[in-house]
Order: sequence, then structure tokens, then C-alpha cells
Amino acid sequence: MTLPWHKSTMAQLSSRLHHQSLHHAPLLLGPEGLGKQEFAEALCDLILCHSPISNQPCGVCQSCQLLQAGTHPDKHRITTENLSIGVDSIREGIDKLQGSAQLSQNKVLLLTGAQRMTTSAANALLKTLEEPTNNTYILMTATSAHSLLPTVLSRCEKHTLASPNPQTLQNWLRDEHQIQMTLEEISAYRSLPKLCLNAYSEGGVTYAQFVEALHNLNSPSSVHNMAQKWEVHIQDCLIWLQQWCRQAAASNQYNEIYDLSIHLMKEAQHPGVNKSMLLYKILNRVREALS
Ligand SMILES: [Zn+2]
Repeated sequence: MTLPWHKSTMAQLSSRLHHQSLHHAPLLLGPEGLGKQEFAEALCDLILCHSPISNQPCGVCQSCQLLQAGTHPDKHRITTENLSIGVDSIREGIDKLQGSAQLSQNKVLLLTGAQRMTTSAANALLKTLEEPTNNTYILMTATSAHSLLPTVLSRCEKHTLASPNPQTLQNWLRDEHQIQMTLEEISAYRSLPKLCLNAYSEGGVTYAQFVEALHNLNSPSSVHNMAQKWEVHIQDCLIWLQQWCRQAAASNQYNEIYDLSIHLMKEAQHPGVNKSMLLYKILNRVREALS
């Protein structure tokens, strides 16, 4: 299903598909948590459906039935267990595109998180992008354009997916998912729908819980406990601290905490770093500011 704030982009691509002028390599851009993958899946299903109805797959043709069952012979994806996408995965994906489509007129290869491609993987993909075969589409998603090689970029058609405005997202979460979030919370998740949903899924942590925990910091040992408990969510915590500081009264103390959290975000990315200690350092400053 296409998210409401992505419908106009979908309509545009759908119309191009209908007029047989859809680019063979659309590249969907946007931050992690925006819903790029859902958009790519929906576009793929639209490309393969035999008789789409108003920008959506019909849901009843043979193609749609196989898509729903996850067994469509012309829908392929690049899969990898690793953080980066290597040359072998790309070659394997390209191989699947050989031969003519079995069921639909079209064939689709999905490549999500294209920014994870190694240089040799990207080079392996280039030839296919340069010499597209008829009725073959390569749908890619990436977090940013500059994370891809210029040679790859120049052979794709970029579409930056829109972010919802916080009010729209608030209504959508309430109506579609029965989740009540304040605008403050939504902005703590940078208005990214999947981050909001993850927070409220089982085992997720929320901004509200985090802020509540901050207000319970009343001794060094409580700081220590919170640092240990939240260290697995350190990146969320540091972003949330920035949000929290922006909303707290503008004083030098909060400015310092804000700056420290930006500094720690970089430090927290180093492998082997003691995250609990980093968190302790900044949470202790919060405790002092609140006391
Ligand atoms: Zn269909």
C-alpha cells in the first residue's frame, strides 16, 4: 500500500508506466524509516500487474495472486546477509534477469539499500544499467544520492520521496495504527513513519519513556542504571537529547548538553566503544542540569 504522502509520486510513475515511458531504473531516495522499501514493493507490483486500476495493482489477476503469495517468477531481488552488498550478490541478481519474462510482460529486480554496494558491486551493475533490455526494470532505494557512484547515478532516474508533515503523520498514526503520539514525540522521530511505528511495536522504546527516565535521574547510581539499560539505543538517545534540549529552556547548560550529544554521536559509531560509559557521561550532565 502506498503511504498517503507518496501517492502523488506513485501517480506520476504509474502514468509513465501506462504510457510506456517509465525509466528502466528509478532510484528512490530518502532517509532510513521513510518507507522507501514499501514504495518500491508497491511500484514493482504495479509494474507486474496485468490490469492496474487507478495507480494500484488490481489484486485479482494471476500476476497479483502470485505477488501476494510471494512466488512471482518475474519479481527478483538482490539479497545479502551482510552489511555491504558485494559483487557476487549483484551478479546473482543480474543473472535472474536473463531470458524473457515468464508471466508478465515485465521483469523487475529490486535493490534496496543501494548505498551499501561496494565499488566493484556498483561496477558490476553498471553494464546492466547502461544497456537495459526491453521491459526490464531495476528499482533501487538509497538513503542519499551522494552515497552512490556518479556513474551509477547518471544512469538512474532520481525520485526523492516526500516526508509527511508532522500533523499528517499524527493523524495517520492515529487512524491507521491506533497510535496516539504528540507532535513533540513525532518530531523526536524526525517525522519518519517507520521510526514511530517501531517505537510502538513490541520491544520498542519511545521518546516519552526516555524523557520520563531522564526525570527520574536523581543520583549517580540511577544515571549508571539508565546508561546500562539504554546503551543499545544510544543513537536514539542522543538524537532525543538534542530534541529535548531544543525544547528545554534555552540556557547554557542545555546548549552544552546539545553540543556534547552531537559530539558523542560520532564517538558512538567507533567499533568497540563503551556505549554505556558515553551515555553515563552525558546523562550525568542532564542530572546536574535538572537538579
Ligand atoms: Zn493485477
